[in-house]
Amino acid sequence: MSGPRQFHVVIVGASISGLTLAHCLSSTSIKFTVLEARSNSFNDGAGLVILPNGARILDQLGLYRDVLDWGVRMDWHSTWLDDGRLLKRVNTRQIGSVRRRTGYPLIVIARRALLGIIFTRLRDKHRVFFNRRVSRIISTPEGVTVHSTDGSSVSGDLVVGADGVYSTVRSQMWRHIKGIEDGAGRHISEVRLKVAYVGVFGISHAFPALERGHVHRAYGHGWSTIIMAGPESKVFWFVSIARPSTDKSNPRHSCDSSFLSGIVAPLLEKYVASDVTFGEIFNRTDSYVFVPLEESLQTRWSWGRFAGVGDAMTPNIAEGANCAIESAASLANHLNKFVRESDDPYKEDGLHSALKTWEDSRRHRVKFLFTLSQLAVRVEAATNWGLKLLRRCSGVVHGVGISWVTDLTPHTARVDYLPLQRREGTGRASKNKGQKQRRITWFSAVPLAATVSLVLHVFRTMLG
Ligand SMILES: Cc1cc2nc3c(=O)[nH]c(=O)nc-3n(C[C@H](O)[C@H](O)[C@H](O)COP(=O)(O)OP(=O)(O)OC[C@H]3O[C@@H](n4cnc5c(N)ncnc54)[C@H](O)[C@@H]3O)c2cc1C
Repeated sequence: MSGPRQFHVVIVGASISGLTLAHCLSSTSIKFTVLEARSNSFNDGAGLVILPNGARILDQLGLYRDVLDWGVRMDWHSTWLDDGRLLKRVNTRQIGSVRRRTGYPLIVIARRALLGIIFTRLRDKHRVFFNRRVSRIISTPEGVTVHSTDGSSVSGDLVVGADGVYSTVRSQMWRHIKGIEDGAGRHISEVRLKVAYVGVFGISHAFPALERGHVHRAYGHGWSTIIMAGPESKVFWFVSIARPSTDKSNPRHSCDSSFLSGIVAPLLEKYVASDVTFGEIFNRTDSYVFVPLEESLQTRWSWGRFAGVGDAMTPNIAEGANCAIESAASLANHLNKFVRESDDPYKEDGLHSALKTWEDSRRHRVKFLFTLSQLAVRVEAATNWGLKLLRRCSGVVHGVGISWVTDLTPHTARVDYLPLQRREGTGRASKNKGQKQRRITWFSAVPLAATVSLVLHVFRTMLG
């Protein structure tokens, strides 16, 4: 006698969120198929920082050892003003939350290395299909059929969009919602992407003045940079530039050197680390990619037999990869529970409400990270005196800021059905040290709280 039919998830996109979801599902009874538009190579992007929230899940999935091998631990975080003056230097080993409480240091790793690890370690690689650009999705009460431009199609119980900012799954979901005859989606609609900033991710070759494991942030009028001296003597860099509201002409992605040179030209003389100008790093660049920094927090991440994770639903300009890893793990938790508690046929109504429960459980945390990212980019690339003042204040309390963002809280997602790994530093610190730590944190929290409320005030004013 055959057992119940396997619940089948069709994942669109084999990047950080899609492949993490595949890993999470491979430890359950759920079957998955991944469809990816690009070929089997992971070349785009520069460096990422793996924070404790992402690291803990990668550890549960057995991927963290490789991340440590391929990445570099971030030990120092320095903040510079554009005239070369140091605003603040923080030793991340001394930030209580990062190591003592979570057990996970901050790791700088190449995006392509992380993608390589997640893909190579996937047990069911044969379920990942490259060169399959999804174009249309048909959803019925019985299931979904996902069509690709090459004429092929895959049927399943649920389609998950892990297909990035310009998600096809998201737009197909909204087409479906708007087409429902009972008008269920009358009062909600897709949130338009906003592009107030553009970014360039680059990788340069060794620069002697930049030491491995040191991260440098620099701020100026309408721009900010992050320079990370990473593994294999590579320097990963990221530039964020305020986009004039009149400029609607930027492409989605570009590696065109004359276009990129034009974008970064005003920054070449600016100091981005001790005695280092951006031009010196840019002149050693091996690869770069221009990307608009889209912002939107969608009102719905799921509907019926559709769901979305990562940048497809919540483009997030500071916590992107870690937030994507968290959202994949949390979706897997809810799907695993739904399948364990349901019998085939997996009815759309039951799935719809299970996915709504998932959304409700995640929304608060994602909104927090999203708002923080929006604030961070605006304060760092400050264009008016109020924001510039805030930048000074927030720069001084950077250590506390890092510890707040990187702390693991009860709302931080993990894979509920896999054991947590015990890392050195997890668990309780000794009483005396803990008390000292708390005193420092509370002391620093006063200026930080003042800064945050000022930021919120300015931000509210800016948004009208
Ligand atoms: C080109 C690029 C470079 C980046 N570089 C960096 C970096 O250096 N540092 C950093 O911190 N962040 C970088 N990011 C952002 C970061 O990768 C994301 O914030 C985070 O990884 C979330 O990933 P995701 O899996 O949700 O989406 P993404 O990483 O955007 O992946 C989406 C995937 O879906 C695929 N896809 C899209 N449409 C379809 C379709 N119709 N059918 C099938 N597949 C489809 C895409 O090919 C892609 O592989 C970069 C993003 C991009 C797009």
